[in-house]
Amino acid sequence: MRHETLQTVRGMRDLMPEDVWKLRFVESNARRLAELYGYEEVITPIIEHYELLAAKIGEETRKRMYVFVDLGGRKVALRPEFTASIARLFITKLAAAPKPIRLFSFGSLYRYDEPQLGRYREFWQANYELIGSSKPEADAEILCLTNDFLKNLGLRNYIIKINHIGILRGILSHEGIPEDKQNAIMQALDKRNWSEAISLAKSFGVNNECLETLEKLIGIRGYEKASFIKEVSDAVKAYPEAISALENFRETLELLERTSLKIQFYFEAGFARGLEYYTGIIFETYVPELDIAICGGGRYDRLIESFGGGMVPAIGVAFGVDRIILAMEKQGISLPKPQRERVLVIPTNSKLLPEAIKASNVLRENGISSEVEVMGRSLSRALSDGSRRGVTYAIIIGPREISEGKVILRDMREKIQEKVKIEDLPVKIRSKSSFKGG
Ligand code: AMP
Repeated sequence: MRHETLQTVRGMRDLMPEDVWKLRFVESNARRLAELYGYEEVITPIIEHYELLAAKIGEETRKRMYVFVDLGGRKVALRPEFTASIARLFITKLAAAPKPIRLFSFGSLYRYDEPQLGRYREFWQANYELIGSSKPEADAEILCLTNDFLKNLGLRNYIIKINHIGILRGILSHEGIPEDKQNAIMQALDKRNWSEAISLAKSFGVNNECLETLEKLIGIRGYEKASFIKEVSDAVKAYPEAISALENFRETLELLERTSLKIQFYFEAGFARGLEYYTGIIFETYVPELDIAICGGGRYDRLIESFGGGMVPAIGVAFGVDRIILAMEKQGISLPKPQRERVLVIPTNSKLLPEAIKASNVLRENGISSEVEVMGRSLSRALSDGSRRGVTYAIIIGPREISEGKVILRDMREKIQEKVKIEDLPVKIRSKSSFKGG
């Protein structure tokens, strides 16, 4: 086989046991949080119709999708995000269910991004969607959940960069700029390419007053809610749609303020996200140690309608699990390691293999993990190999002991051993203070 064929495809990774432990740790925290907030887990397919996934994803991600024709001739793609699948699932299976509907998903996603630290072509997300409410309390719930997710993992100093996309869209709609042209401006803003955003607006024929307003908005940013609201409200005076978006934003922020939760926001009036379906608040979360977002979310009140599912408002958030793990490592937060406590059962000769397997089964039935020596090694080789691999206890099956219904239990760290009845093994091993396994 060619050398390259044995490498993982560029942008793809093998997750080794220690990586899987970290991933599963974050996953179990994510699932626990879902339960605490009343989000039920659903599993949707990795493969969906291209048209569904591409419809509202935004130009940038659309061109990075893994697209192919399956053997039945369908144009399909690997999902680059969860929201389109959840909207589809809602429309086809839950449209008549009482609202709100809270759904949680965890899984892998695929984007042909340029690989670098924290950016992979296969990555993992924990995703939460709250469907059916357009109220500020729904926005507040998703922001609280975001804060809890990060806080519960021990992350510190994260900030939630936030804006309300209705402000920018309100201005552009007021000027009669159609949605596809607005989307092009949002893509430029998402890339923080302010001058491109302004020249696009100019090329779409907006007047000078509007250009000035956009330029002003792009400059408004900071940690202070009150001054942000004041500056934006001064800047958008001539645009009623933008004013009502700002009012909606203010309501959510004030609700959160009154809960006394300490969530650190960074307001940025020129902040947009690439996904085209957002209609209300949008946000991304950052830690100082990484310059890429560890989570992203926002309100999308017209996505379900655009898929033909009626006017159902919704809001969601997705956490980039790979980046969260990176952020935790950069902040020195300890993540669980593979469990190394293990028991190795070694028969002194091959005739005793059935006894070794039986003893091993006794342990497993009692919830203690154990391995049987399967390499045909001699006792001394098996013991030295076992200690090299971090085996904690060896159980030696010898002919003399077995005839008395006993085995030798060897503590590999203390290097002491004793004869033990097979049925007493689980109790004996459990009683050893160092044994945490099972
Ligand atoms: P998005 O909806 O594109 O903002 O994605 C939500 C979150 O998923 C981001 O904030 C990242 O944490 C994560 N994410 C997105 N793309 C990638 C990628 N290529 N590799 C790793 N994580 C990603």
